[in-house]
Order: sequence, then C-alpha cells, then structure tokens
Amino acid sequence: MSAALEDRARFGQDDCATVVLASFACRSCLTAPDLVTLTGTPGERMATSECPACGALNRVRMSDTQAFKLWTLQRGNTFVHFAPQYW
Ligand SMILES: [Zn+2]
Repeated sequence: MSAALEDRARFGQDDCATVVLASFACRSCLTAPDLVTLTGTPGERMATSECPACGALNRVRMSDTQAFKLWTLQRGNTFVHFAPQYW
C-alpha cells in the first residue's frame, strides 16, 4: 500500500545541494530517496521517487530552471534518472 503524494519544488537557482535535495524527501517520513526519476515536457517537469523506507510515491513538479539546477547539481548519494525524451 503506497500513497502518491504531490508537491511543487521550492528550491531556487542559487540554493545549495542540501536544500535542493530536501525537496525530494519523503512527504510521509522525510527519508531521502536514493533514486529520483525526472520526466515531463518543457515547462512541466515532474520528479518521481519511491521512498526506500515507507514506500510512498512522491511526485514533485518543477520548472525548467529547477530541473536544470537538479541536472547540474552535485547530488551525493541520490541518483537522478533523466528520461531521454524532451532533453
Ligand atoms: Zn517515506
């Protein structure tokens, strides 16, 4: 049983990696994901991750600017998969 939780990314262009990755913490238990999948079309990017602790499906919408920021970030232990279409 997993709940799908949706939110909008809050980080800005100048935020550090910790703040950016905090946007993808589980909405239920705040566990950091180890895999984020980024999909969507220009202007409607969507990051999806499944919580490794409780199994909740977390979805975060973001702008192209935020998606680009995520792309260029030093992401530590979090792996970000970019779906090949539209990039
Ligand atoms: Zn969780």
